[in-house]
Amino acid sequence: MFGFLKNNFVFTHADSKQVVSGFTGESVTDEMSLEAYSRDASAFRVVPKKVWYPKNTEDVVALVVLCDKEKEHDENASLTVRAGGTCLSGGPLNAGWIVDMTKYMKKIHIDPIAQTATVEMGAYFRDIEDAALEHGLMFAPYPSSHRLCGIGGMIGNNASGEKSLRHGATIDNVLELTVVLPSGEVVTMGPRSISSVDLLREKEVLSLFEKYGQALQRAAGDVRKVASGYRLDKVVSGEMFNEAALFVGSQGTLGVVTQAVLKLVPVPQFLELLVISAQTLHDLGEVIELVRAYNPEGLETFDSNTFKKAEIYLKEHADRMHAYIDPNAHLFILVQLSESTKQETEAQAVRCHDALRDKGYFVRHVTTETDVASLWQIRRNSLLLIRDHNEKGYKAVPCIEDVIVPIVSLGVFLEKLGSILTRRKIEYGFHGHIGEGSFRIIPVFNFNSPSVAEDIIELMREVFVLVKEVRGNISADHSDGIIRTPFLEEFYGAELCSAFKRIKDIYDPKNNMNPKKKVGGDIAFLTQSLDRE
Ligand SMILES: Cc1cc2nc3c(=O)[nH]c(=O)nc-3n(C[C@H](O)[C@H](O)[C@H](O)COP(=O)(O)OP(=O)(O)OC[C@H]3O[C@@H](n4cnc5c(N)ncnc54)[C@H](O)[C@@H]3O)c2cc1C
Repeated sequence: MFGFLKNNFVFTHADSKQVVSGFTGESVTDEMSLEAYSRDASAFRVVPKKVWYPKNTEDVVALVVLCDKEKEHDENASLTVRAGGTCLSGGPLNAGWIVDMTKYMKKIHIDPIAQTATVEMGAYFRDIEDAALEHGLMFAPYPSSHRLCGIGGMIGNNASGEKSLRHGATIDNVLELTVVLPSGEVVTMGPRSISSVDLLREKEVLSLFEKYGQALQRAAGDVRKVASGYRLDKVVSGEMFNEAALFVGSQGTLGVVTQAVLKLVPVPQFLELLVISAQTLHDLGEVIELVRAYNPEGLETFDSNTFKKAEIYLKEHADRMHAYIDPNAHLFILVQLSESTKQETEAQAVRCHDALRDKGYFVRHVTTETDVASLWQIRRNSLLLIRDHNEKGYKAVPCIEDVIVPIVSLGVFLEKLGSILTRRKIEYGFHGHIGEGSFRIIPVFNFNSPSVAEDIIELMREVFVLVKEVRGNISADHSDGIIRTPFLEEFYGAELCSAFKRIKDIYDPKNNMNPKKKVGGDIAFLTQSLDRE
């Protein structure tokens, strides 16, 4: 249905088999392949020099070591790892080498007793999902792109989704990582006692945590999910030290993750869905608080602009919704309930429904499986509906799409944001993981305008000031990439950004790994990389 992302797979011109000592994979440099790897799902295009396909961790070590050698005669040599290429921030795009894990490194092993999955970083989420489902289990951070993205990118971005309300983001569900550091060393990371910290690198991280951990936590806002910067504040929990917390969400800037052990949870057995038609944004925070008291399993939203597009491009699904919604509503909120028995789930849905109705909200219980599936289809395709159907010359640009704010501020924040967009005459669509205060507002820009880059930057600057005012964060789960790295200093301040730089220097002193992301990115790189085609 949708003309979707440029895919990773362009293997027709493998131009080398054994060019690096010990490397058993392949590489390509033909124009068509480089073009395919020049884009992800963001608004950027950066053409790489070469694409590598490693077969195992040893191959990744060989590439990391070779990249380091290259640096001796090419100061721009770099290595950027890529999985599904669905990133919305430009994370897997860079001008040096790209390492695509998805051709070979795809092993998945499910342990149904321990409820874990041991996976290689080229595995697609859909394959992990299908393998876990055979045992009634799932990996809970479940992005809307779950049939498209890879586990490497989920770890790289600290992805989350409709099931994070109960189970948290990727960072909360990773038990262990195997990482190739820029030095070529292979390290296994996971929680262990602080008293066992003895390596220089770990001691340095620990002392940075002691110095900056609390300040970083305060600056990150009063929110449940954060994907901006490095999660230095998470490397210590109680008496445990966990270096993996720095690597989740680091966008491959500190090393290449090659394998992970993931925590799985049982798939909910009993589900009931309510849909609320909200007329105004003002009391959104109150509605969400009210619903959250009923322990929802999912709490998601999309707006009337998205629904209008669904009426054209997902007509069959939109038609089914009419029985449940007020077509004049501004926002539709999906409330999924799940308890341990069918009876209790149904009773909880009735209680939640009645509480909403008694407060005067327009709410309906979605009664058939087909209708439930249709509603989720619209929600999960919301981003594509907004992104892929615009007038010629106009493009939806993910830039402020990943803000997250405290639930209490939701209504006020959204009203102010709406005023900013209206004043700037910017069209937008709105959807997201509203139960956690995280939502996607995707503004549409005129790419025929010579000031398009300035328009995007000015909007971001104005919105991020508002986000900071309400103690939110500029990224819940799409991370910084090309689009948000230049704004980290304005958001976190110079001192915390110097701590980010110190982290980068501890692991990657020569800046070999995905340069200009998290650290060292600037507005010039953003502007040059904007895909104007
Ligand atoms: C339609 C659509 C809906 C989406 N919905 C959601 C959503 O609900 N929630 C959400 O969180 N995101 C969402 N996204 C964004 C994106 O799908 C996620 O961030 C996803 O996790 C990226 O995975 P990927 O495999 O495509 O990563 P890629 O795009 O390949 O890479 C993402 C980042 O991870 C790094 N990386 C990749 N592999 C490794 C590795 N082995 N080691 C270290 N770093 C690595 C890359 O360098 C890059 O910086 C959506 C995107 C689209 C297009």
